[in-house]
Amino acid sequence: MRACVITLGCQMNEYDTHAIQSQLAGIGYTFVDNFKEADLVMLNTCAVRGKPVDKARSILGDLRREKRERRITVGLMGCLAQLPEGQEMGLKYGVDIMLGPGALTEIVPAIQKGKFQSFEFKQELNFYTPPPPVGTLSAHVSITRGCNHKCTYCIVPTTRGAEVSRSADDIVKEVEALRDAGVVEVSLLGQNVNSYGLEPGLGPNRKLLPGFPSFADLLRRVGRTGIPRLRFITSHPINFTDDIIEALAETPSVCRYIHLPVQAGSNRVLKRMAREYTREYYLDRIRKIRERLPDVSLSTDVIVGFPGETEEDFQDTLSLYDEVRYDMAYMFIYSERAGTPAAKHFDDIPHDIKVNRLMRLIERQKHWSWDRYRAWVGQEVEVLIKGRAHDEGLMQGHTRGNHAVVVPSGIAPTTGLYRVTVTHATPHMLYAEGALPVPTGVGTHA
Ligand code: SF4
Repeated sequence: MRACVITLGCQMNEYDTHAIQSQLAGIGYTFVDNFKEADLVMLNTCAVRGKPVDKARSILGDLRREKRERRITVGLMGCLAQLPEGQEMGLKYGVDIMLGPGALTEIVPAIQKGKFQSFEFKQELNFYTPPPPVGTLSAHVSITRGCNHKCTYCIVPTTRGAEVSRSADDIVKEVEALRDAGVVEVSLLGQNVNSYGLEPGLGPNRKLLPGFPSFADLLRRVGRTGIPRLRFITSHPINFTDDIIEALAETPSVCRYIHLPVQAGSNRVLKRMAREYTREYYLDRIRKIRERLPDVSLSTDVIVGFPGETEEDFQDTLSLYDEVRYDMAYMFIYSERAGTPAAKHFDDIPHDIKVNRLMRLIERQKHWSWDRYRAWVGQEVEVLIKGRAHDEGLMQGHTRGNHAVVVPSGIAPTTGLYRVTVTHATPHMLYAEGALPVPTGVGTHA
């Protein structure tokens, strides 16, 4: 039996894909990339933005046509499967199995029953531990699920429920198993990893749940497993404590890369988004991070065209970019999601203005990315080569600071950790030479 799992979305979706694939492998499935060769197709879809939902609709249309020609089972999973919009699509396109994010372990019984089924969110099933991947150098480890925040544009609290933290012992065991299987880079994963182990609620003053370490102490503990590279995603500025910054500075395996979503540079917009912090608070976090970790690389998420965003608000986002100087940024046009508080506001920014703001922001980011990338020219860095680049004769990977790097395949013929010297840079890529393999052990910060 052959399965095809199509993933549209974030690291959370990728993690869920791995969880589904390992269960399917356990009952004898092999995997193909082309759904036309599969007996089972699982579409794993994010619902945070409108684009992946539109794409999912189009793929489900293709799958419905495929179903008319031959016998296949089609499943919809991920955040979309949890929403009324997804349920309607499931019925319309003849989907056989609907699996919300909290019902991943229902996949095997669902296939065995083989008729239309929809599984409700089950928080207790959240922390399925997939077996270590074979021949993979990077892996995700889920440490929290769900989110307590109430950002007004976001559907995640509806689809993934309230925050739940996984036991620290289980996390450490999974990281040790990955390390023993040859994985060199682990990313700790959650909607808001910084609130790991905290009691229910919101804000910067939550206490720890009995028996849980803080996120900072979890980083220290996982760092002691000897995994060479440790990353984490995603952070929320309100929970990014001084102690986390200390833990980063003290733990050599933690890569000096922080993704700290800001979403907007204007206090007025931040308030309407219910982000719980001000521009000044955010910039103070950045100042503290840079003080303690001068070589850190930073990235962010930004939404342009949130309802009511004026040109002046947008200028605040541009000026925040100039103050922070991100290495990279993920920038999006606001898209209304049914069921979110922001959907009650009139989406009053004309599309051409949203596009214009996005283009200007991308240009500003390009300026700072180039500034940050070219500062590496002439320096030696550690790179994790993960495979061939698109261009012939090149291999690609990432530095500890998450900068994309390519090297000639002649000098880095296999995947793994290398030390290389950066020869030139573009705003999105470092080019390097002189690769020397790094013995697998805790890397150095460059
Ligand atoms: S922090 Fe806000 S944007 Fe992030 S998942 Fe939670 S509600 Fe959504």
